[in-house]
Amino acid sequence: MPYRAPVQDYEFLFRHVVGFDRVAGTGRFEEASPDLVSAILTEAGKMCEEVMAPLQRNGDLHPAHLENGVLRTSPGFAEGWRAIAEGGWIGMSGNPEYGGMGLPMTLTTSVNEMMSAACLSLQLAPLMTQGQIEALEHHASAALRDLYLPKLISGEWAGTMNLTEPQAGSDVGALSSKAVPNDDGTYAITGQKIYISWGDNDFTGNVCHLVLARLPDGAPGTKGISLFLVPKYLPDDAGNAGVANSLKVVSLEHKMGLHGSPTCVMQYDGATGWLVGKEHGGMAAMFTMMNNARLGVGGQGVGVAEGAYQHALAYALERKQGKTPSGTIIDHADVRRMLTTMKADLFASRAILLACAVAIDMQTATGDADWAARAALLTPIAKTFGTEVGIETAQTGVQVHGGMGFIEETGAAQFYRDVRVTAIYEGTNGIQAMDLVARKMMDGGEAASRLLDEIEAHAEAARATFPEMAEAVWQATESLRETTEWLVSQTDMNERFAGAVPYLRAFARVLGGHFHLAAALADRGGAREKLARFYITRMLPEHVGLLEHAQSGASGLFALDADELSA
Ligand SMILES: Cc1cc2nc3c(=O)[nH]c(=O)nc-3n(C[C@H](O)[C@H](O)[C@H](O)COP(=O)(O)OP(=O)(O)OC[C@H]3O[C@@H](n4cnc5c(N)ncnc54)[C@H](O)[C@@H]3O)c2cc1C
Repeated sequence: MPYRAPVQDYEFLFRHVVGFDRVAGTGRFEEASPDLVSAILTEAGKMCEEVMAPLQRNGDLHPAHLENGVLRTSPGFAEGWRAIAEGGWIGMSGNPEYGGMGLPMTLTTSVNEMMSAACLSLQLAPLMTQGQIEALEHHASAALRDLYLPKLISGEWAGTMNLTEPQAGSDVGALSSKAVPNDDGTYAITGQKIYISWGDNDFTGNVCHLVLARLPDGAPGTKGISLFLVPKYLPDDAGNAGVANSLKVVSLEHKMGLHGSPTCVMQYDGATGWLVGKEHGGMAAMFTMMNNARLGVGGQGVGVAEGAYQHALAYALERKQGKTPSGTIIDHADVRRMLTTMKADLFASRAILLACAVAIDMQTATGDADWAARAALLTPIAKTFGTEVGIETAQTGVQVHGGMGFIEETGAAQFYRDVRVTAIYEGTNGIQAMDLVARKMMDGGEAASRLLDEIEAHAEAARATFPEMAEAVWQATESLRETTEWLVSQTDMNERFAGAVPYLRAFARVLGGHFHLAAALADRGGAREKLARFYITRMLPEHVGLLEHAQSGASGLFALDADELSA
């Protein structure tokens, strides 16, 4: 089933739901007119449909592998990378001084999402590179920026991020990789990193690793970590890839899915690296890359949801089973329930993702602290809800296919296997939820409260047109506000953490209701109003149970001790 890029959906969301006109109205992004947006989305969509989507099965059937220590990528991936690079899609939001297009993150996020739908395992390569570009733009010295950014933005070189070690997963501060200063201002990096996505490839002239390591005088924990740029090949005097650095891919992981993306165990043996940011300031620098990647991974979930939905819909329109008006399964009530749920959640998660990107763009364009707080608040929600919707939609997509969903040829199972990791990497979804109720509520819940005020004001204004839907959204927002206030009043963090995951999900449900209501207002009597009615009537009420769960506190969670869990 060929992929069809949902360009009109983005255009509708930009215009009527997430307020992209505010971004285009800033001096920084004034070039992002509706015509330019349309041209970019159409062009990128075409590349995704024609070049990337046909590679999806290749990655699954012919995984990346090591051949005598040399990494070989899946058939067609080199050409796919070239098409992405030549289209300028890697450096879309990159600084024009270094060859980037300087476009809003909202556009990059949409293009990334389309690429994820078309071929997730290949898309992870430009995504990692984009994160590195942003980290270098913000934190690297001018010399490093001048040397590396043009090559990363053009796709001549690729970038990776190296945090994880066997004993340091979610607990990044437990890492043991070492950095020792050399006499010439560089550093010798030694250690092992695991699970490094696209740790190598056979289609770029260099692979640049951003590596977290500890200097000899670095304090234990996250405070003592520094960030280093460690290229596979050391640049020569002309800035070209020169002699090999002291690092290698030791092995590749055998995974449940995402086979086209090589997940590498990397060994650094006194490899030459350059400091990025300040000594011991590695986490702050890496957070730039991680926040970029979190939004990107949320988009991966939404993209896969789109791909899985399109597959399931096409199957339901063809499969004949039982007596229905059309003769196909699409007219069975339960199949309708599945498809409409998929479509409604896809819309909600995409709107949340783009609203987060709009906040990031507004922060970039205005430097306004409220926009920065909005972006920070929405990032864990966009990552978590986007990936949950990706997994749930892919899972439902398998169900719509019946037995054929379990048979690999249809591709339904691949979506499910590939997308599963998105809830795990870039900080597990549990860690994201903890971030929401802890760091993102350090302002006493002010940023959340401001957003809830806006949602309620919007619902108030919608009452005249859609009284029932507006009331439901208003009530849900009020309940979310009460739970937010309860959470913020908890000084024992475990009380907050115990309910973090259901709280985040309820927040996403309410945001989804808000965005569906906006869509209904812009499409009265149309399909978007009907979809909004489905979501607000049948899916938004989920927030009630979630918020009750969120306020139940920690004691019940720990009531069963470890022995009783094992009994
Ligand atoms: C395919 C793939 C690609 C990856 N790519 C990269 C990459 O490019 N670069 C990179 O650096 N890493 C990468 N990772 C690593 C990934 O980011 C980690 O797997 C992830 O952060 C979780 O760490 P962990 O696997 O050690 O799990 P653990 O940290 O051991 O977590 C196990 C469970 O415990 C929970 N948990 C842990 N700590 C807490 C806590 N404090 N509070 C509550 N719950 C907690 C987790 O949520 C999880 O459910 C990749 C992983 C995979 C599988």
